Amino acid sequence: MAQIAFIGLGRMGHGMAGRYLDNGFKVAVWNRSKAKADDLIARGAQWATSPEDAAIDADAVVTMVADDEASRAVWLTKDGAAATMKAGTLAIECSTVSYNHAVEMAHTLRERGLIYIDSPVTGLPDAAAAGKLTLLVGADPADLERARPYLEPLAATIRHFGAVGAGTVYKLINNLMGAIQIAGVAEGLAIAEQAGLDMKLVLEAIETGVAASPQVIRHSKRMVARNFAGASFTSSLRHKDAAYAVALAESLLAEAPLLGRAAVAAYARAKAYAPDDDEGKMIEIVSRPKGTT
Ligand code: NAP
Repeated sequence: MAQIAFIGLGRMGHGMAGRYLDNGFKVAVWNRSKAKADDLIARGAQWATSPEDAAIDADAVVTMVADDEASRAVWLTKDGAAATMKAGTLAIECSTVSYNHAVEMAHTLRERGLIYIDSPVTGLPDAAAAGKLTLLVGADPADLERARPYLEPLAATIRHFGAVGAGTVYKLINNLMGAIQIAGVAEGLAIAEQAGLDMKLVLEAIETGVAASPQVIRHSKRMVARNFAGASFTSSLRHKDAAYAVALAESLLAEAPLLGRAAVAAYARAKAYAPDDDEGKMIEIVSRPKGTT
C-alpha cells in the first residue's frame, strides 16, 4: 500500500487528505492545529507529531499550507519533513507559494536527494474534497510521471506547464487576473448600488453581457446578496497571491504592473477589514456612499 504524508489540513488540505483515504492509501497527517485532523483520524489517517514524523515512511509528501513562510516551516525547519524523507522521495507542493520560493525549494531539496515538484491547484474547497481540482504542475517530465499516481486522486485535470516553478507561474497569473476581476466587480457593483440601480437587473445584465467570466458571475451574485457562505477563498490568501504575482511581474516586465499593484492595494484593504472571510466581502468596504468614513 502506497504511503502518503499529508501536511496542512486547512479548507483545501483537509478534503485533499481525505481523497487519499478514499483511494486506499496509507495516510499520515500533520497540521499545526491538531483539531482539524480529528475526523480524518477517525477515518483511518495516522496522526503524526510533526512533519518530520509524518514523512518517515512516506513514498510521497504532499503539502497544502498558506504561503512561503508556512512552506519553509513544514519542509525545512528542524522537525520539517525533509529531515526524515528517504532519498528519491517525492515532495509535492500544492500550496500557492512565490515563484522564487518554488525554485529555491527545488534546489534545496534536490541537494538532499529529494524530488520537489510544484503543483498548485485551482478549484474551491468543495472541488478539493471531491478530487476535482485542476493541478498546475512544474516538473521534469520523468518526475511528473513518478508523481502521477499521487496526483491523480486529487484531480480532474493535470496541466504540465514545464520545469519546476512553471506551475507556480501559471497559478500566480491566474490568481492575479482573478484578483483584478474581483476587485473590478466590487467597484462596478458599488457604483451601481450607490447610483440606485435595480441590482436584480444589473446582475441579469452582467450574466448575459460581454464583461462576464465565471469568476465575475459567481462573485457579482454573492456580493449583491452579501451572502458569502459556502466554499471560500479568503482576502488574506488572495492578497498573498496577488503580491507574489506582482513580485514575479516586476522581475520579468519592462514596466511595473499597474493593475496588479492596484489589486494588491485593494486586497490589502480587504485583508485589513476581514482577513479570514471570503474575499467577496470587499464589497462591504467599497460600496459606501460618498462622505462616509
Ligand atoms: P487555510 O484554510 O487558511 O489553511 C492554511 C493551512 O496552512 C492550515 O493548515 C494552517 O494551519 C497552515 N499554516 C499556516 N501557517 C502555517 C505555519 N507558519 N506553519 C505551519 N502551518 C501553517 O487555507 P486554504 O484555503 O486551505 O489554502 C491553502 C493553500 O491553498 C494556500 O496556499 C492557498 O492560496 C491555496 N488555495 C486555496 C484555495 C481556496 O479556495 N481556499 C484554492 C486554491 C488554492 P492551521 O490549521 O494550524 O492554521
